[in-house]
Amino acid sequence: MRQACVLLKHGELALKGRNRERFEHQLIDNVRRALDDLGPGVRVRRRRGVIVLSAPGRPGLPPTLLERAREIIGVSVVQPALRVDRTPEAAVAAALELAREARPDGSRPRFAVRAKRRHKDFPLSSTQLNALIGAAVNAELGWPVDLSHPDVEMAVEVDRREIFVSAARYSGLGGLPVGCSGRAMALISGGFDSPVAAHRAMRRGLACDFVHFTGAPLTGPSSAYKAYALVRRLARFQSGARLWIVPLGHVQKELSLAGAGSLHVVAQRRLMIRTAERLARAAGAQALVTGDSLGQVSSQTLSNLATVEQAATLPLLRPLLAWDKEEIMAEADRLGTGEISRLPDEDCCSLLAPRSVATRTTASSLERLERRLDVEATVDGLLAKARLLHLTPGREESPGTGPEERREPSAAAAS
Ligand code: ATP
Ligand code: MG
Repeated sequence: MRQACVLLKHGELALKGRNRERFEHQLIDNVRRALDDLGPGVRVRRRRGVIVLSAPGRPGLPPTLLERAREIIGVSVVQPALRVDRTPEAAVAAALELAREARPDGSRPRFAVRAKRRHKDFPLSSTQLNALIGAAVNAELGWPVDLSHPDVEMAVEVDRREIFVSAARYSGLGGLPVGCSGRAMALISGGFDSPVAAHRAMRRGLACDFVHFTGAPLTGPSSAYKAYALVRRLARFQSGARLWIVPLGHVQKELSLAGAGSLHVVAQRRLMIRTAERLARAAGAQALVTGDSLGQVSSQTLSNLATVEQAATLPLLRPLLAWDKEEIMAEADRLGTGEISRLPDEDCCSLLAPRSVATRTTASSLERLERRLDVEATVDGLLAKARLLHLTPGREESPGTGPEERREPSAAAAS
């Protein structure tokens, strides 16, 4: 037996008992879904604390498998490996093969072998196995052993029925598997912050739905396309996503006519929150997520955040509350959302809003303004105009695939 495979390992070792069970089940479901579109033949198996990916019916592993595995939230280590018979000789042969592969130019890196036995009934101890393999690699290839600062570390893992040998190890994203903490509705604008915030929420195990407010009919479709592109990027981390697009233009006009003045932005945020919350309840989400960061702009002073929050009855999560803009931008670039956020668009927030934004608002001043509108009817009207887009990975990359539209009957009916 000699089979190329990839080992996935997870962190969060503090988890115990039933939590750990749930975590592992969710992770394996997510791995299956994430690899679904790599075509048939990719096998996902669970060992003790390890997930093994292989492709028994194919000539080799799909070339994108490693990259894809590194984007699965909950996986902290991704390790290409050879799966061989459970004998010392097979482990030595695999180690030699991997070593040759790792240095095709014949150079001689310093190396170390780190064996561990997940099942102990094996003729050699870990130390003996280390010595055996180390001696063979040293004799055959002339690599010097260096246990403290090796250039190449070879891992040898003895399992119940097989041995896994590997010479490379990549870090994964870590975090909790998406879905094991529940579901949230993320408010996504075209900016840098909200996609990073949603990703942070996903990394703590929240499956996310998304809602974006456009300035339509007063603005063009650019912000909706941007939100679509952002959610499409984020959807890879949870194998799909739903995005609601809500046109806010008419309501912004009503706010202006009602004399919102410097309260405009905060009033608009409260309407967004109320609308998002109705969508969230209809979608089975238990929290809202925004990209707010304390003090970043005048609408995000502590009192404005509080005034906005008072319009919500679901928990309002702000994963970036204490992040600096530079940290957020760097993370956006790592995630691949940064380049999309940089594209120009017509942001609904700047539309009709007066230049000055009140930095100290109270719920009662907002309520006074809101009594001049019919808030419930306004939210109903927005929900009636909401459009739902489904984003399914695999189909997303083909050029020319535009947003696929479907009406969401339950959104308008939700209360
Ligand atoms: P971002 O970079 O995410 O746009 P920002 O720093 O520009 O954030 P604001 O524009 O004040 O901050 O928005 C704060 C948060 O409110 C956003 O992170 C987002 O969650 C939500 N939000 C703002 N505008 C919209 C919108 N048009 N549609 C949906 N959510 C929005
Ligand atoms: Mg913004």
